[in-house]
Amino acid sequence: MGNRFQTQDRFAAGAQFIGGKLRPGTSGRTQDIVDPATGRTIHTYELAGPADVDAAVAAARDARPGWAGATPGERSEALHRFAAVLADRAEDLAGAESLQCGKPIRLSTGFDVPGTIDNTAFFAGAARHLEGQSAGEYSGDHTSYVRREPIGTVGSIAPWNYPLQMAAWKVLPAIAAGNTIVLKPAEITPLTSLMFAQAATEAGVPDGVVNIVSGAGKDAGEHLVGHPDIDMTSFTGSTAVGRRVARIATDTVKRLHLELGGKAPFVVFDDADLEAAAHGAVAGSLINTGQDCTAATRAYVQRPLYDAFVAAVADLMATVRLGDPFDPATDLGPLVSHVQRDRVAAVVERARAYATVVTGGEAPQGELRNGAYYLPTLVTGAAQDSEIVRHEIFGPVLVVLPFDTDEEGLALANDTPYGLAASAWTRDVYRAGRATREIRAGCVWINDHIPIISEMPHGGLGASGFGKDMSVYSFEEYTQVKHVMYDNTAVVRKDWHRTIFTGR
Ligand code: NAD
Repeated sequence: MGNRFQTQDRFAAGAQFIGGKLRPGTSGRTQDIVDPATGRTIHTYELAGPADVDAAVAAARDARPGWAGATPGERSEALHRFAAVLADRAEDLAGAESLQCGKPIRLSTGFDVPGTIDNTAFFAGAARHLEGQSAGEYSGDHTSYVRREPIGTVGSIAPWNYPLQMAAWKVLPAIAAGNTIVLKPAEITPLTSLMFAQAATEAGVPDGVVNIVSGAGKDAGEHLVGHPDIDMTSFTGSTAVGRRVARIATDTVKRLHLELGGKAPFVVFDDADLEAAAHGAVAGSLINTGQDCTAATRAYVQRPLYDAFVAAVADLMATVRLGDPFDPATDLGPLVSHVQRDRVAAVVERARAYATVVTGGEAPQGELRNGAYYLPTLVTGAAQDSEIVRHEIFGPVLVVLPFDTDEEGLALANDTPYGLAASAWTRDVYRAGRATREIRAGCVWINDHIPIISEMPHGGLGASGFGKDMSVYSFEEYTQVKHVMYDNTAVVRKDWHRTIFTGR
């Protein structure tokens, strides 16, 4: 086993970060953090209960006037220092992320951590570019302009698949726009969210601007969403929990941003570069052991390429090396937990009754048997309305189906309640253009699948939710616009007063 991150002393004070300090939770319940590669408990902490959420919300409310009153330049400076502290901690952050999630260290060091640092640097710049519409004399007698203001105090909830990046995606646009925030990470993976918040404090972001409550969804999560002193809920997670969160947020009339599940189609037209598409499908379906809301999950391949595509994907999947996440040679780590692995395995087992498992479809034996590993899995012969094609699996499983006409391929891609991401593979510019227009999703890649970039928005439609993370578009979620109107005339008795005063 490679060199693993040590948690012992770092979180001895507790796993709640409130008002700039770590402290224990007061729910009376503990949570084990388990290394999914070995099944061993690496840390146990006291979960947050409602009282801890109240304390975090109070700290965030207290910090609000100072942070909202800081100039954009001051917020920007703090975020630049924040990016620098994160860069200093890069190795530690990658180690902690790999340990709690089972991510291959190549993924943490090459994607999660640099992505987070880049996002922080992006929002350091963007903090100075909050825009409103230009001012003008629209009525003739008044000058109108728009102020873009923070919403207030944001309550965010994040999932376990990319804990560090999800913390960054939630926290950065919120605080760059002058809000304060309480973030609840998934209770099984809180470590890097805590380290992220600690880095913010160390960089000079004032205490209480970023708070972390590590608690369970039902009590800490629901208490945060329903909290009367929270002005906005931003949630990333499954569609099922998102529905519940939406109901609670709606009851308390909160601004809502939902980033939910996905079931991304991967459409291969018959003029595509087969080698590129096969490599893209394997990398795009196995990244983060398939626990990626934009992962390629349903490949639709035009009939002339279908057999060759299935054979190429099966061959490539067989070359993927499962192993210790801390070994730089490891391509694929375990799933985040044994529970998640068993969920994935159960979907594949049920699919055997109606489809063909071409490769994979089981947990590896030997020295990996105690970890939450699952082999890269390729499934064919499933019907479009089957569970494995319709439901989000969140594991290293790719389903391939054939299609004949372009219309059919695009219709199958759109035959889903989700709409987060999709890709189309073709060398024909007109086919590519049609795919980008007709596929309903928040992102459509052409001849690639997965890359994201701080400057561009991420977010879906339909059962994938609404609102955007990353990019300046995320400011639409975390700010409100206020119309300000000045009278320009100094006239005491205005013309419109005649609606009240007749002849006086
Ligand atoms: P999940 O919905 O089970 O949990 C997400 C978060 O919600 C966790 O912090 C959890 O503790 C909390 N939670 C659970 N029940 C709650 C409740 N009743 N009230 C309030 N909070 C509650 O999701 P997960 O299994 O952690 O993550 C996987 C899911 O996240 C997948 O569906 C994936 O597609 C989605 N996801 C989406 C995006 C995106 O950008 N659209 C990004 C990453 C993950």
